[in-house]
Amino acid sequence: MEIIPSRSETVGGLGVRRALPTRGRRTVGPWCFADHLGPADVDASREPGVGPHPHIGLATVTWLLDGELLHRDSLGSEQTIRPGQLNLMTAGGGVQHAEQGTGYAGAFEGIQLWVALPDATRRGPAAFEHHGSLPQVELASGVASVLIGEFSGVVSPARADSRMVGVELAFTSDASVALRPDFEYALVVLRGSAAVAGTPIEPGRLASLGSGLDELALEASGDARIMLLGGVPIEPITMFWNFVGRDRAELAQAGHDWNENHDRFGRLDSPLARIPAPRAPWPSGA
Ligand code: MN
Repeated sequence: MEIIPSRSETVGGLGVRRALPTRGRRTVGPWCFADHLGPADVDASREPGVGPHPHIGLATVTWLLDGELLHRDSLGSEQTIRPGQLNLMTAGGGVQHAEQGTGYAGAFEGIQLWVALPDATRRGPAAFEHHGSLPQVELASGVASVLIGEFSGVVSPARADSRMVGVELAFTSDASVALRPDFEYALVVLRGSAAVAGTPIEPGRLASLGSGLDELALEASGDARIMLLGGVPIEPITMFWNFVGRDRAELAQAGHDWNENHDRFGRLDSPLARIPAPRAPWPSGA
């Protein structure tokens, strides 16, 4: 197991800990981005919010522990998400969305993940799903919520375009988890702390487990909330800003298209400011 520190960033006025990608680890299976949002206290004067911005080649997976967010996108979706619920937006060849507060005041915490799409769907139509509840699996001292993929014989209703799993483990003393040797896995601790074979893992770190495992034993002292991510890698991917692709040219084109208001991203009216694409960080022509 390798413990990799997350990077502190600010997104939409909220402190986040970016567990993926980091210099030490770019992807885990098809998972290519993981922002632990908060924890923070929010109110009407300090609401989390991100104005209209585009995506290509990925699916966003949003999961909250506390608080509320309103998702709006260019498909016409308008969906409040609350703890225990899942928002999954598939970008395909282009979509735009915004996330804003709902007027909610109180504790706010969650995680936003991206999954790289396979060639079969990465240029396809955009889509949005909301799941008001998810299937659960009993653990020895808690419960697992199956966000995406299959876990302990229970399959999430959420769309999965490649072989992957995403599960939130909530437990108080120990959890024994069946894994697939053909998947690579990582853990992101959201709350509390846990240990794997005596090595502690805490919020602000990614525990990379690699592949070849068929079981994982976790020990916690008190309430732990841990995201288990796994799957088969989609290779090779390239990332730039909010885009996932296979080469720099298509990523630069997406940024150009967004800044030119191209139809591929649809239309979205929002009270929040539209976010322009930055200049690509590599030399022109490269
Ligand atoms: Mn987004």
